Amino acid sequence: MRGSESAPVFPPKPPSEKLLCTIAHNFCRDMNPTAFEEAGCAVCGQLTILQELTPLRDLTFPLDILERDGVTQMERGFDDRHEAQEIEGPVLDLACDSVCVECEEHLSKGVVPPLALANGFWIGPIPEVLQGLSFAEKLLVARIRHNRCLVRVSSGRAKMTGNVIMFSNPMLKGYKELPPTRAELEDVLAFIFTGPVQPTPDDFARTPMLVRRNKVADALAWLKINHRD
Ligand SMILES: [Zn+2]
Repeated sequence: MRGSESAPVFPPKPPSEKLLCTIAHNFCRDMNPTAFEEAGCAVCGQLTILQELTPLRDLTFPLDILERDGVTQMERGFDDRHEAQEIEGPVLDLACDSVCVECEEHLSKGVVPPLALANGFWIGPIPEVLQGLSFAEKLLVARIRHNRCLVRVSSGRAKMTGNVIMFSNPMLKGYKELPPTRAELEDVLAFIFTGPVQPTPDDFARTPMLVRRNKVADALAWLKINHRD
């Protein structure tokens, strides 16, 4: 292009020192932990940028309006001699010590935030016995089943590959007795091996569908004592 000043020049000049400084500065600003570090709000439980949270101890108003009956329940462990107790005081996520802007705004006006845990959203921490259950183990302790699952595993020369498909169940299934019997489970879970040869015991041992009997028994015993249903 002849005579035009705005015509792009090739090769372009190296960036100026000022531009380099701006790029480095913006990168450092965006990568600073304060720009993206999050923590939970004790009132609604939602993750919020750390900078926008107010520590509970800095609040100038009481949290009495968050006190509700029948929302929380203390873990009874494996001891069923006593009735389930509620957690005293306002319904808060005790693992968090701050409040998000939205909740603070509502509370300062004396209104319970719509998404507050006190509005029946409290579920408490995940108990130890229910942590780390595999997919198949979760199937065995759930009372309601709303989908079916098909697992296909093809064994090759070096490794097994597989894919899982979930279908929604046209009829919700509710179990009266847990764990469901093998025949009942066959309605909702299918596990297919494909490949040139029959699966070996070694292949079975490596499938993700194995169930640890004790884990399931512990989870069910805990649920019997602690779950409302
Ligand atoms: Zn909140």
